[in-house]
Amino acid sequence: MNGLPDAALLDRARGCAVGAAVGDALGMPLEFKPPRPLHDLVREMLPGRIPAGSFTDDTEMALALAESLIAHRPLDPDDLARRFAAWAETNPPDIGVHTRRVLSRVARGVPWRAAASAVQAAHPNSAGNGSLMRCWPVALVYWRQPEALRAASSLQSDVTHPHPDCAAACVFVNTMIADLLCGAAPRVAFERALASTGLADDFRAVIEAAPERTRNDLANSGWVRHTLESAIWGLLTTASFEEAVVQVANLGDDADTAASVTGALAGAAYGLDAIPARWRDALHGAWPVGSDTIWSAADFVRLADRLVTLESAAT
Ligand SMILES: [Mg+2]
Repeated sequence: MNGLPDAALLDRARGCAVGAAVGDALGMPLEFKPPRPLHDLVREMLPGRIPAGSFTDDTEMALALAESLIAHRPLDPDDLARRFAAWAETNPPDIGVHTRRVLSRVARGVPWRAAASAVQAAHPNSAGNGSLMRCWPVALVYWRQPEALRAASSLQSDVTHPHPDCAAACVFVNTMIADLLCGAAPRVAFERALASTGLADDFRAVIEAAPERTRNDLANSGWVRHTLESAIWGLLTTASFEEAVVQVANLGDDADTAASVTGALAGAAYGLDAIPARWRDALHGAWPVGSDTIWSAADFVRLADRLVTLESAAT
């Protein structure tokens, strides 16, 4: 193996990046809403608080992580915390409560570990999906380095979400994405991630049961256990990118984040061409936030190409 990604892997990596952003944008207008009735599922990009096709904080934080990884490997948590804090300072329309608490401390000069620890100590049961939603760039960089993948997945979580469930969920999803990029079937990638990821027993039981759930069982809240449960359910109970993301986005509540995690997984499973063109065409967002630079699907394709070859170029 020469370490360079082949065409199939590149297509799946592009699917992961575009899929995460597309899922975010499809779920955006459904966030905080009740589940849609099965006979009336949303399948088109609709406007919400922001225009149709816009991605939100999930994708913005992933872009900050991707740019940090391009600049520094292994992952430099101080650099990542600075980038996250700079993003939070732009007053993005969408930002998680826990994330804002940590990053406002970082912006005031508190080191990231002290900031994250203080917020976690004040809210010991807080285990939101704010680090899971942005973690996919790590899998695109370390797809052939399992140890580095696990370390960076966990560390990027610790910067804002040090709860063990949050870090474990990031390791789980990125382990699956890396396996999918290399051609594993979704069910196989799921079983392997279950076998290799340390999860608390009750969290493991939730995830193991996810493929057997029905949509009425799923709360789809901002709790990381609910988000991972929904994403696994969406991937493993459907047979296409579109159906996986539609099913999860239409669960409502934390629709954009759950659909983004689902989109990263399903994009890695089915590749770029499986993502409906009407969704890719509608996708857009300013990055950096507030700038005149508008990202489209083509920019996510270029980013994916860059991320998957970073470590090949280095070795
Ligand atoms: Mg969001």
